[in-house]
Amino acid sequence: MTTGPAMLDDVVDESPQRCEGFTDGRPCGVPASLLRADEDGRGWCWNHAPDPATRAAHKVAAARGGLAARARARRGLDPDELGPLKTVADAMRWSESIARATAAGQLSAAQANSAIRAVQQWCSAHDLHVRMTRLTQLEREVQRLKGMGVP
Ligand SMILES: [Zn+2]
Repeated sequence: MTTGPAMLDDVVDESPQRCEGFTDGRPCGVPASLLRADEDGRGWCWNHAPDPATRAAHKVAAARGGLAARARARRGLDPDELGPLKTVADAMRWSESIARATAAGQLSAAQANSAIRAVQQWCSAHDLHVRMTRLTQLEREVQRLKGMGVP
């Protein structure tokens, strides 16, 4: 290119092979296909773009991409598929669904722990309700038997 007079089109079409920026003192490795040229025709990746507005736009786009990825990754379980949580059989179904989803990577550890804790809490409340109901029945039975003269 330096051996003869260059046509203007040749200079404009000549794209740099790598980003001109540096990361940790080393040349940036982003290839030409991902670079944007500045007004001087020098190529820059999004991170090294000299224009702050370009870098800011990239950060916004990256944040949006990250949010979308997190939303996809943490979509959780479909409430319609889980169904109601009103019986012991429901609690067993929920536990199985949570275990399957966690094993398949559909739930984060935090989501799985929260969901299982909720099922455990439901089971504890259900167990207490069953025991209280049974205790009330037994107390009534004791009163009835005492009324019949049974010591
Ligand atoms: Zn770069």
